[in-house]
Amino acid sequence: MRVLAVGHPSFMLHHQGNWHPERPDRLNAARAGLEIAPVEIVELEAPRIASAVLQRLHTAEYVTAIEGFCAAGGGALDSDTYAVVESWEAAIRSAGAGPAAVDRLVAGDADAAFCLVRPPGHHALANRAMGFCIFNNAALTARYLTDMGQKVLIVDWDVHHGNGTQDLFISDGNVLYISVHQFPFYPGGGWLDEFGYGPGSGKTINIPVPARTTGDIYREAFRRVVLPVARQFGPDWILVSSGYDAHRADPLAEVMLVEADYAYMANSLVGLVPAGRTVVFLEGGYDLDAVRDSVAATFAGFAGVIDPNARSHGESDAGAWRSLEMVERAVGEFWEVR
Ligand SMILES: [Zn+2]
Repeated sequence: MRVLAVGHPSFMLHHQGNWHPERPDRLNAARAGLEIAPVEIVELEAPRIASAVLQRLHTAEYVTAIEGFCAAGGGALDSDTYAVVESWEAAIRSAGAGPAAVDRLVAGDADAAFCLVRPPGHHALANRAMGFCIFNNAALTARYLTDMGQKVLIVDWDVHHGNGTQDLFISDGNVLYISVHQFPFYPGGGWLDEFGYGPGSGKTINIPVPARTTGDIYREAFRRVVLPVARQFGPDWILVSSGYDAHRADPLAEVMLVEADYAYMANSLVGLVPAGRTVVFLEGGYDLDAVRDSVAATFAGFAGVIDPNARSHGESDAGAWRSLEMVERAVGEFWEVR
């Protein structure tokens, strides 16, 4: 399996001191994980996103404000999101990684792509930076694809709800957004009854899970909900907002996944779209060893090299199973589940 590794040196320069969990070392860890995965790596430099593509989702005022804020030295965009002078270059190239990957995949140069980007994207709104994110890298790629008439499934297994991505496609019938996330938790949304509206009705699926949930629930959620809904939707492309902060070692959250769970989830997506139609985006993940090993497991899963006996860590409690049943019932109003 050939995987485009989409990166740029500027991603290492978006940096506000090692006290901040969203730090450059995360990218080295993710890259190391890709290098130990059973895949062939094809390098691709992330270009700056075209302004017209960036402004398909972000307002011109917001883009100009971010550029000016960085040029003036940067600072705090909100209580946990920073920018420095170098962040502008990093942000516009992180946003440009996905569309460039799409072009190369369409040309037949690889079987999948991994956008090794910083800052991450899934909390970013049309006109607001949030949760370490400036521009919404995965969402911009989805819009780039729908503008070409493609149907896009976005699977978001970052432990946090991707409020930005959900909001940008809340009424869009060509983008199916499915998020599994700790709940209640930052950033506050992602309730199971948020299904979208208009043409987007039923095209937002939230699978909230309580703290201490382990991989058994994630695997069952994929079997019962994610995969049946995805098959009925019939995507042309899959984008994965691949945070690794649901790993049990992660310091920012309380979900209990292990590497084998990422391998399982990635492997289960194989076959939903043809080869060359999957783009994975690094989102969160703050324990470096967990990021490295989980990235390796993710791409082993996509490559079909998985150990079917690799277990989750422990078992989820009855409350987690009840919440999955509630999701299944709610989603069943829109789609056939199981
Ligand atoms: Zn996260």
